[in-house]
Amino acid sequence: MTVSAIVVAAGRGERFSSQTPKPLARIDDHPLIFYCLRTISRHPLIDDIVLVVNAKIKDRVAAIIKQYRIRKISHLVIGGRRRQDSVYKGLKALNKDTDLALIHDGARPFIDKETITAAVKEAVASGAAIVGVPVKATIKQVIGHRSQVIGSVIVKNTLDRDNLWEVQTPQVFQRDLIMQAYRKSGKREVTDDAALVERLGAKVRMVKGSYSNIKITTPEDLVLAQAILRANSVKL
Ligand code: C5P
Repeated sequence: MTVSAIVVAAGRGERFSSQTPKPLARIDDHPLIFYCLRTISRHPLIDDIVLVVNAKIKDRVAAIIKQYRIRKISHLVIGGRRRQDSVYKGLKALNKDTDLALIHDGARPFIDKETITAAVKEAVASGAAIVGVPVKATIKQVIGHRSQVIGSVIVKNTLDRDNLWEVQTPQVFQRDLIMQAYRKSGKREVTDDAALVERLGAKVRMVKGSYSNIKITTPEDLVLAQAILRANSVKL
């Protein structure tokens, strides 16, 4: 059984609004991208890593890989316009012998070893496993698209929190299944990989992850990341 990781870090970081490209932003003196690469590369179940980056920072990321002696990087691939384009490019770069693809956002530095193990084991058993946590917030549906909100919006209804989960990465799939899902994805934009697998009618299983597995999106998330790291609640 060969398990390959695809780490996508090719976003434009528009919501990050910083001079420093997000994967290179520092958390406690190390670049953001270093943290997840260290955990994934040290994981005994992961055989190799396809790292997907923006062309503008390819050389700097290559230097980080060298400096921190990150092992198992098999390909450094240039990403695409949308997240799903970057993932697809990563999938197409996989080695022939890959059985399972573990897809992870480079913007999630604090993925831990146990969660990776649980997700891989579930994907071995069922073909498709994603990591998530039960939502803590109360979620309401409103009328209209979020991009059009000026002032207030009308509430449509309140969703039952008991069966709502916030989805994270990694998401792990049997290779043929995720390739088929991406081949058939068409133009529709999705925000995670499992959505494409669900559209094929295949069952996706949720594995409980950790609330520390945050995604760095806006600058304040870096403050939170520092706090998580300092509190030592992350087993790196
Ligand atoms: O945009 P979003 O926050 O969903 O991005 C999640 C992850 O996908 C980030 O690690 C980001 O770098 C990556 N991404 C990418 N290529 C894009 C857009 C996002 O690799 N075109």
